Amino acid sequence: MLEFTATVLETERGGDVHKVILDRTAFYPTGGGQPNDTGRMGDADVIDVNEDESGRIIHTLKGGDSVIPGRELLCTVDAARRLDHLQQHSGQHILSQAFIQACGAETRSFHLGAVTSTIDIDLHSPSDEHMRSAEEVANQIIFEDRPMRVHFMTEEQAGELPLRKESAIRGTIRVIEVEGFDWSPCGGTHAARTGQIGLIAVKSFERAKKMTRVEFVCGRRALVEYRGANSTATRIARLFSADRESAVQAVERTLQENKSLQRRVRELLQIALVGEAAELLARSEMKASSDSSPAFRVVHEIFEGRDVEELRLLAWKIIEREPAVALLGTRDKSNARLVFARSPGLSHNVGALLAEACQILGGRGGGKPDMAQGGGPSVDKLEEALRFAISKLD
Ligand SMILES: [Zn+2]
Repeated sequence: MLEFTATVLETERGGDVHKVILDRTAFYPTGGGQPNDTGRMGDADVIDVNEDESGRIIHTLKGGDSVIPGRELLCTVDAARRLDHLQQHSGQHILSQAFIQACGAETRSFHLGAVTSTIDIDLHSPSDEHMRSAEEVANQIIFEDRPMRVHFMTEEQAGELPLRKESAIRGTIRVIEVEGFDWSPCGGTHAARTGQIGLIAVKSFERAKKMTRVEFVCGRRALVEYRGANSTATRIARLFSADRESAVQAVERTLQENKSLQRRVRELLQIALVGEAAELLARSEMKASSDSSPAFRVVHEIFEGRDVEELRLLAWKIIEREPAVALLGTRDKSNARLVFARSPGLSHNVGALLAEACQILGGRGGGKPDMAQGGGPSVDKLEEALRFAISKLD
């Protein structure tokens, strides 16, 4: 039922929101894992519907000056939202029975979400095959377009049916039958025939709290899901000038190539850094030997936007070539970084030196006496920090 008239019994105003009780209603209230209907009541929007503890249905309205006690109003349920919810909900009945028949897994809970829905089932080692076989059973029931019937019966009558789950209600029980397939007590909105559900697709599954959480879509949502998946797969395939079916191999091939290219880049970098280290040493200043240490070279250089790991490698190549202290800096828009190193056999503590230089940059850093790195945000003080470090070597 999507359209009906009803008489307003009670209203309660609170700001621009309006709570209303009718003498009868076809608006479904949130419950049983299914969200509420929305729609129109007179000149007002029905934005929420709930059931209170005594079983009264409370409609929450926005606007609605005509909604006053005693007045009879025309009410309309949002048909697209109702259809969407009954597709997901009816689909859940069928999928839950399908998981029992295909894998012996009972459904423990159901949640109808805004985009996808989930059931938690008693399945301990879920696999793709489990999902595909339950999906097969469920969609076969849809393709057969079986009637779905609503029965009101006593507990005794219900007890004679192979109910999929116990009723939480005492007294008169509402049982939903999917002809020859499933019987469950339920107060939700359902399809008249299984064909109305259109399609059931399991999107994903994961282990959750000793159970398996199955994410699925039904009806129009399955179409939307297919369009999304198809568009993603096709766009990826186009990037590789492949068709959709061979896109995975194309991606795998590219990742493999990327890996071997990275390996090659690392090898070439080592070669390039040896050359760069020699060049930097050749134009560096020589410090004369003193009583306490031999003669050594001071290599200092500032780079723009260079990777710190690469600077460490370069510093390493410099100090292993001949006795030297390497004072290297790099910067980008927001950060200045320093890498200091010295050859074995020299006595300078570049770790302590770097910690002091980083203070000039407004940051921190440190390391061992022979190799250290750090940095700070004061990009414009990088020259000053390096000059300071050079002066300390004297
Ligand atoms: Zn139901």
